[in-house]
Amino acid sequence: MKLNENYKKLEDSYLFSTISRKVGEYGEKNPDAKIIRLGIGDVTLPLAPAVVKAMQDALCEMSVQESFHGYGPEQGYAFLKNEIQKYYARRDTQLEADEIFISDGAKSDLGNILDLFDADNTVLIPDPVYPVYVDTNTMAGRNIVFMDANEENGFLPLPDENIDADIIYLCSPNNPTGAVYNREGLKAWVDYANRKNAIILFDAAYECFIVERDLPRSIYEIEGAKTCAIEFCSLSKTAGFTGTRCGYTVVPFALERNGMSLHKMWLRRQTTKFNGVPYVVQRGAAAVFTEEGQEQIQQTLAYYKENAKVLAKTLDELGIWYTGGKNSPYLWLKCPNNMNSWTFFDYLLENAHVVGTPGAGFGKNGDKFFRLTAFGDKEKTIEAAERIKTLLSK
Ligand code: PLP
Repeated sequence: MKLNENYKKLEDSYLFSTISRKVGEYGEKNPDAKIIRLGIGDVTLPLAPAVVKAMQDALCEMSVQESFHGYGPEQGYAFLKNEIQKYYARRDTQLEADEIFISDGAKSDLGNILDLFDADNTVLIPDPVYPVYVDTNTMAGRNIVFMDANEENGFLPLPDENIDADIIYLCSPNNPTGAVYNREGLKAWVDYANRKNAIILFDAAYECFIVERDLPRSIYEIEGAKTCAIEFCSLSKTAGFTGTRCGYTVVPFALERNGMSLHKMWLRRQTTKFNGVPYVVQRGAAAVFTEEGQEQIQQTLAYYKENAKVLAKTLDELGIWYTGGKNSPYLWLKCPNNMNSWTFFDYLLENAHVVGTPGAGFGKNGDKFFRLTAFGDKEKTIEAAERIKTLLSK
């Protein structure tokens, strides 16, 4: 009997546990401190009424024999896939409904998709990065090559012809940096992948935060992407589904390597290993894409976008360099006075009672950077921004 020894290579993730320990200890010693948390990556506003109503109706259907639903199609119900197809079409991106697979969220599929690839592939991952890409490949024993995302390239690295990658992770708008690729940037990646026979795993979990019309919200807005890219989307941040769980993954029919269709492989993988998303949840998800649902989620998104604006304005006034904020719920700022990110974390906690996320937790290139999020309460975000301004303008 042999275990998967690759698990020994995983680095323990102490980021959020260390943050919560430090905040807890500080709070105990300073019970009067009104600590504001701008470090969370979870949403705080509830589900839209249209979503709740659709789920209540679906639950009632389940209580009647004639409308009861048992096992569903693992790849998702047509009613939801059709809504998502129309959602893309409204942005002039044409997909077949069957190219869309319903998932329980982007994280699961980002990990599960690796079932389609041999362990003997080179994976290209930006640093800093959402840690799931690194850990899932480490578990499989794949060779990882990191590409530097930094101040010089605006945290948007472009392809290097000298690197031969097989699998490439791109996340735009990015977590943690909030940076967003423009069309030229994504086109460079698509052309590189097609030339090298590589596959891009494109994480679009934050596409709904893009406000600038000429920025791509899907990689399929770029010519050539259907022969080299898989796209992962999520209703977590779009519609407050972090606890409800639903997302979708697009695997184009045109995506083939060595005579094998990745679409067929993924369908086979999902129908074998995935149970599908509950009927009630898929009904709720479908309501997100109706006119009423879209109007309601836009109000919620506007609330978060306003928080991001408040934080961005403060950083602008302080003359602090940052990425994100405009087309993303994340702001990624350069720590003042050349502080490293944990030193700045302590400084902000102790002197402004504000909590953020040290960039070092996302990779070596995050060491001098710090992430703030716009998912908090409006009044608290305004208060935190004022405290940051007072502290850093001293
Ligand atoms: N991708 C990125 C970049 C994320 O930041 C997150 C969650 O924070 C996810 C994927 C996971 O999304 P989901 O909740 O749909 O699993």
